Amino acid sequence: MPHHPLSRIIEQTASIVVMTDVHGVVEYVNPAFEKVTGYTSDEVLGKNPDFFSSDRQSEEFYAHMWSTLLAGKVYSNNLIHKRKDGSLFHTEITITPLIDDNTDITHFMVIARDISEHIRDKTHPIQHDSLTDLPNRNLFMDRLQQAISKAQHHHRLVAVLFLDLDRFRNINDSLGHTAGDQLLRQLGERFRKTIREGDTIARFGGDEFAILLDDFDSDNSLSLIAQKILNSLAMAFEINSHEIFITASIGISISPHDGDDPDTLLRNADIAMCRARELGKNNFQYYSEAMTAHVFEHLSLENSLRHALERNEFILHYQPQVDTRSGKIFGVEALLRWQHPELGLVMPNHFISLLEETGLIEPVGIWVLETACKQSRQWHQSGIGFVHMSVNLSSRQFNNRHFIASLQNIIKETQVNPQYLELELTESMLMRNTSSIITALKNLNALGVRFAIDDFGTGYSSLNYLRRFPIDTIKIDRAFIRDITHDTDDRAICSAIIGMTQSLSLKVIAEGVETHAQLDILKTKECHYIQGNVFSPAVPAAKITQMLADQLLI
Ligand code: C2E
Ligand code: MG
Ligand code: MG
Repeated sequence: MPHHPLSRIIEQTASIVVMTDVHGVVEYVNPAFEKVTGYTSDEVLGKNPDFFSSDRQSEEFYAHMWSTLLAGKVYSNNLIHKRKDGSLFHTEITITPLIDDNTDITHFMVIARDISEHIRDKTHPIQHDSLTDLPNRNLFMDRLQQAISKAQHHHRLVAVLFLDLDRFRNINDSLGHTAGDQLLRQLGERFRKTIREGDTIARFGGDEFAILLDDFDSDNSLSLIAQKILNSLAMAFEINSHEIFITASIGISISPHDGDDPDTLLRNADIAMCRARELGKNNFQYYSEAMTAHVFEHLSLENSLRHALERNEFILHYQPQVDTRSGKIFGVEALLRWQHPELGLVMPNHFISLLEETGLIEPVGIWVLETACKQSRQWHQSGIGFVHMSVNLSSRQFNNRHFIASLQNIIKETQVNPQYLELELTESMLMRNTSSIITALKNLNALGVRFAIDDFGTGYSSLNYLRRFPIDTIKIDRAFIRDITHDTDDRAICSAIIGMTQSLSLKVIAEGVETHAQLDILKTKECHYIQGNVFSPAVPAAKITQMLADQLLI
């Protein structure tokens, strides 16, 4: 450029100026271009300006632009361009064809103004949450839609993590809303630092957050991210010189597996989050079981199971057993869970059979008995009183010669009242080798413990063993309860089981009762003991302790 005042204007203006030849090859860019885009002039001279177009404009858009320009007309529009670092910016662009004396086009002059700030000012408040400044639900849904469309095209996965704080209301109630707001702001900051640059974290309002991940290489890395987010909460928050600890529950859904539109994905992540919360909070769950199973296959499960016991990764949850006449909890069933560092809380159907195959069920089973008995004892000591404790036994434990001695030991050390300890056996365990089973049962019975038949009705139900074995309780399998409101066969089977237990003076518990309709039918059939989600799912020790303590006050 000659050193003419005009060229100085071009050098110093804040607008981007680009000059190309008639084919669009760049001949000149001004310093404003370098500053805004991050490219130096050496990097772009002789090139086509494609490098700084984003894929936000369609081919038709460019076709229209070129037809306008080649007709010798000025073209102007608002566009989205891409900087050298990949980030996008909005421009208001005017392209003027330069025409020589023969009315031929020799050059194009592009003048563009960066209007990102302006657009941001206009749209920011309606797309961002004013408290945390994170994207809000609207913006999240837009980005999710975009991510899904892009992923479909490339056959890739998109994941939504839905996060809800555990017990946030307590903080609002006890420290006030201003403190709650401060906490949310600090949380937003921590989350932002935890996720990667390109990922979106949004606040949906209240204590709900959602995270969009569209660039992960395996389900395994998803688990790691979820765990990382939970870990980011481990350090206390300081609010008004109070130390506050908070945990969260996360649900994960993955497109296209769990839905291929934003609403479905979000709803399913929400369902998974509720499950995570029911399962004891401070963990994450995948929406689909299949996904959990899939993740499982990729881990050397056996190896991690071997370490689970020594790493204290097993925990017990307790599901109440309720007497519907009084509405009170009379007992609980101890149910095993595995708090896996990557998978979150894992349910027993995923690992019990492997524990059995590997023989690990024996030490783990002892741990279960010990833990349940200690819990029983603690309730007794703390004034809650005697609570019936049911513990599941696997056939392998039951057939182990040393089992009786171990149990005797546990009873002695924990000083539980064995009358309140009930061992759950399945029908199939009783069908094998009857005489040795009778001996085992009799020996155990001599210790004072009781027996229940679990999942009754699914095995080779034989009235014979009910008479011959010292059984106290029958648990009707949930398969018969499920359709009891409309399946007349199931209803007849339940009636028969209940009638039979009455005539044999056995206690009968209906398992897996989920609705009040089921409950009403069971009541009319005089089955008063129930266990099921209609009352409560299995919950962590602290929660069941609270429930037991609460009912003392009634
Ligand atoms: P189970 O002994 O028949 O336990 C009842 C199962 O039904 C539990 O599943 C419980 O969470 C579930 N359940 C209870 N109420 C409802 C309801 O209303 N709806 C539905 N859909 N389900 C309900 P969970 O905890 O997944 O345990 C599954 C099985 O794993 C148990 O079945 C038991 O056979 C085995 N298991 C659990 N803990 C242990 C253990 O410590 N040792 C051994 N050997 N087996 C265990
Ligand atoms: Mg059971
Ligand atoms: Mg059962």
